[in-house]
Amino acid sequence: MQFRLIITSAAALLLAACQSGDAPAPKAAAPMIAPILSGADAVDIHSYAKPLDARVTHVALDLAVDFAAKRVAGTATLDLQAKPGVKSITLDDKGLEIAAITTADGNPLPYTVGAVDPILGAPLTVEMGDAKQIVIRYTSAPDAGALQWLTPEQTAGKKSPYLLSQGQAIENRSWIPTQDSPGVRQTWEAKITVPAALTAVMSAPKAGEPVTKSDTRTFSYKMDKPVAPYLIAIAVGDLAFRELGPRTGVWTEPAMLDKAAAELADTEKMVAAAERLFGPYQWGRYDMLVLPPSFPFGGMENPTLTFLTPTFIAGDKSLTSLIAHELAHSWSGNLATNATWADFWLNEGMTTYATTRIVEAVYGPKVAAQQVALGHDAMNAAITDNGGAAGPDTRLHIDLKGRSPDDGLTDIAYEKGAAFLRTIEIAVGRERFDAWLKGWFSGHMFEPVTTAIFLADIREHLIKNDAALETKLALDTWVNDPGIPASIAPADAQAFAEVDSAVTAFKTGALPSTPVWQRWTTDEKLRFLTKLDKKQPSARLAALDQAYGLANAGNNEVRFAFLTLAVAARHDPAVPALEQFLLVQGRRKFVRPLITALAADAEWGRPIAKRVYAKARPLYHPVTTRDLDKLGLIAAPSQKALTAK
Ligand SMILES: [Zn+2]
Repeated sequence: MQFRLIITSAAALLLAACQSGDAPAPKAAAPMIAPILSGADAVDIHSYAKPLDARVTHVALDLAVDFAAKRVAGTATLDLQAKPGVKSITLDDKGLEIAAITTADGNPLPYTVGAVDPILGAPLTVEMGDAKQIVIRYTSAPDAGALQWLTPEQTAGKKSPYLLSQGQAIENRSWIPTQDSPGVRQTWEAKITVPAALTAVMSAPKAGEPVTKSDTRTFSYKMDKPVAPYLIAIAVGDLAFRELGPRTGVWTEPAMLDKAAAELADTEKMVAAAERLFGPYQWGRYDMLVLPPSFPFGGMENPTLTFLTPTFIAGDKSLTSLIAHELAHSWSGNLATNATWADFWLNEGMTTYATTRIVEAVYGPKVAAQQVALGHDAMNAAITDNGGAAGPDTRLHIDLKGRSPDDGLTDIAYEKGAAFLRTIEIAVGRERFDAWLKGWFSGHMFEPVTTAIFLADIREHLIKNDAALETKLALDTWVNDPGIPASIAPADAQAFAEVDSAVTAFKTGALPSTPVWQRWTTDEKLRFLTKLDKKQPSARLAALDQAYGLANAGNNEVRFAFLTLAVAARHDPAVPALEQFLLVQGRRKFVRPLITALAADAEWGRPIAKRVYAKARPLYHPVTTRDLDKLGLIAAPSQKALTAK
């Protein structure tokens, strides 16, 4: 490894000693306790915790998974640190049914659950006195937002039930009573008891072999590095594993294992490329879990175990830049983590930038340049969608007061954030920027970060009082102002020259030839489809579909782009394929815009939306249905509908 650690603090020095493959680990390393940031911009308005007074440092779960009741039940033992004189601690709680809270030796402790906020849940305040450890005996609610309980019919194998969690942004408080704030990093461990035929996997290294007792099995996991609590994740189901490389592998249902392993064959190569760019991979193994189709996100970067939508499986590795994205989070997001959701761009913008760098290293500069150009398009669309160049939500450092962190989940965070970093890279030169980037990750390893910390770091290491550079980059404008600053480094206008002339030719009636279409990369196909005028005559869409089989394309991104056109054009022949697409997967990126566009077209689309959503809703995750329910397509959905077959 030709990696130079830049040490900025004593904590980082300890971490370097613990983590680096080069340095011998001390025999009994002290537990790693990540700092809590002070300052107004580090106050997390989406958590009730007051971590500067009293904080959780470690969570030990001992939970049984009850598929019949759709609950997890057991204990959470929390290690605490408090300021002298502080005798109570506030945790986050969303719908937990608490039976008792005691000290480690069983003495009951008083506690109160405050008023419930629909977004945040409720504060759970425990009078712990001088106790350094508390034990909470509890059960999660059947509608816990982080947990999705799938019936056997909703899985690929159709035989066993399935449980999966999605903690980001503030859902883990629905099954783990802790301080659910990304600024309060915690180490954790878990014992998870499940029906004996099933396997429990988590976002941490295995701690021993599973223990079988008559009809149950208990799995143990332990994460000894402090993580943001939204990164604690679990899945339980009929799962099988296959090695992909020395430290990479894939978990999925047995029926999907061959396909998933083939699609993920380049993973080890990607990890190696990422390490050359960003420094050593710090988490041990990099495994992936390919989920049943209802998973709402493309992927979730749960440490040691990325969760992935199966919709990335195209049969030809044409959508594996998703893996590059989740892998990049092993540095941006998981090592250096946004302290609050107002700085979500630090997680996602940096990851989007880093993804392009991995893609460039593995697949070459042309593919990377195309991704940048597509990213600019997505950024511009997000500006339009969020109120135009003056829209307050087009700022990187976003104001989420009174709102869900999910409101910040737009391409502003991802693509404007990435464009900002690329602008800095081009201004200072790649060599200097890359040295800074490695230093940023090693210097903030296992720590929360804010926009202010980021700007100070850039100024210290890259601007270095160069007034001309400071003016040119307009750093503060980038993060605090809406719209796109004039200093943005443009995307390569020629990245899609061939495709763009095909778009022009299409206007006069010419289709790209089939060999040309087949030669095009996914990004080129997407560029073509997204650059076409939205209101195509139905006959033109029919010609495209006939030539390239788009309505039923194996590549789901291509399929989605075509179906988007089909909805805008009221293209009736695509409706069966559209309906099928909305029923076989529940990825929010795909289903939300399609159903929303249908619902907005009162005459033609809304009846389709009503029909499809009534059937599709049971397949979708609560994160997805929460938005779609607002469209008023079906009468007040009951909890039963959520989990119906
Ligand atoms: Zn991401």
